[in-house]
Amino acid sequence: MAFSAIHPDAGRVDATLPDLGCVLAWDLVHKVRPRVALRCRACGHGVHAKISPRGLRYFAHDPGRPPDCAWLNESLEHHQLKLVLATAVRATGWHAELEVTGPNGGWRADVLATSLDGSRRIAWEAQLSPITDDDIRYRTTRYQADDVEVCWVSPTRPPWIGVVPSVQVAEDDDGTVAIVDGAAEFYYTVGEWRMNRSQPLAEFIRRVQNQTVVFHEVLPRYRRIRLSAVSHSRRRGFWVSSASVIAESGHEAIRQRQEAWKQRQKEEAEARRMAEELQREIELKAEQARLDKQREQQRAEQQRQAAIQATRERLRREEEQQQQQAVEQERLRLEQIEARAGDRWHADVFETRQRELRDKVIDHVWLKERTKTTSFATSGPAVEFAYGTPVYVRDRLYGVLRPSPLSLHRLPREVVVFMLNAREGARCVDTGLVPAERVVFFDFPDAEQLQLL
Ligand SMILES: [Zn+2]
Repeated sequence: MAFSAIHPDAGRVDATLPDLGCVLAWDLVHKVRPRVALRCRACGHGVHAKISPRGLRYFAHDPGRPPDCAWLNESLEHHQLKLVLATAVRATGWHAELEVTGPNGGWRADVLATSLDGSRRIAWEAQLSPITDDDIRYRTTRYQADDVEVCWVSPTRPPWIGVVPSVQVAEDDDGTVAIVDGAAEFYYTVGEWRMNRSQPLAEFIRRVQNQTVVFHEVLPRYRRIRLSAVSHSRRRGFWVSSASVIAESGHEAIRQRQEAWKQRQKEEAEARRMAEELQREIELKAEQARLDKQREQQRAEQQRQAAIQATRERLRREEEQQQQQAVEQERLRLEQIEARAGDRWHADVFETRQRELRDKVIDHVWLKERTKTTSFATSGPAVEFAYGTPVYVRDRLYGVLRPSPLSLHRLPREVVVFMLNAREGARCVDTGLVPAERVVFFDFPDAEQLQLL
């Protein structure tokens, strides 16, 4: 069904207008004989004028219609909405044409409203069937390309409301059609958009036409719109007054200033924090360096002390060595002196005198010990016996024969010292190394060497 058709003489006829838009009475096309050859504007097939049971005038295809006519599938509801829109537009004083096809078929407006001076055109689209956001956006751009404003109208709340310029309409109990969704006002004090209470369709259309309301794409921050005291919805855009647009941008500007201020505060706090952290780091490094230096100094001091100690130790050892060497040298020197003295001690005692002396010792032992086991070491004078000759009795060391007075300290204890005469005996005792009771002397004359001394 359609509201318009092509008349063979008058051209386009509009069933919603009393004069069919071309000074022609409805009675001249409705149920006349012979039939007027009306044609469908979409497919060119024959159509005839009809009136619905509720008194709605329209055109219907003759039998044998092509199955792909664009107007075939439009419902009565769709047609009624188109009629409501056209009637409301006409009430504002603007022209309204139904089912207008754009140049090159770029669009087909359900109701095309035109201002009296023809400078502005607004397409009012009754959209009842489902359509995707992309499709409805695309169809909107087709209108805009031809400089035609558009508003999509739905009797239910469609998912695409706000995606493109759009409203939801509803019929009041008294039969007036009103806008119930798609128009809003900005409330500056709470910083949010609130849906307008319902307003008559004709009133809304007038405001759109005189541009006291415009379709406004909401700033992203304000897309959460309050529908009622308890419900919210997200919308990309709606019809608003210019005052609301100014209020929203003012609110946004203040909000951005506040956010910028907060951001600055945050950045300043961050900068302070970083400066403090840097300062702490510097102090920490300085402290670390100080400790390192202190440890280094301690280590150096320890090394210095250790070096001093090592040097002292080395010097002490060297001194000790030198002392030991000196002692050793002295000892050797004394031993040499002793050895020379020992040599001289015996050198000038005749062989016969020695034999006589041994005989005297043997006699002395016989008198004292009543034994004839006395024997003499055959190895001769030895340094460990103070350069004297060991005397054995019963195979045990008994005494020493004529030790060198200079080496008496070498004699074993408890041995008897045998000397030539009293003079030699006194000399032994005088050293303090041999007690007088252990010195035995005879009455031989002095040895030649001693006499020379
Ligand atoms: Zn057709």
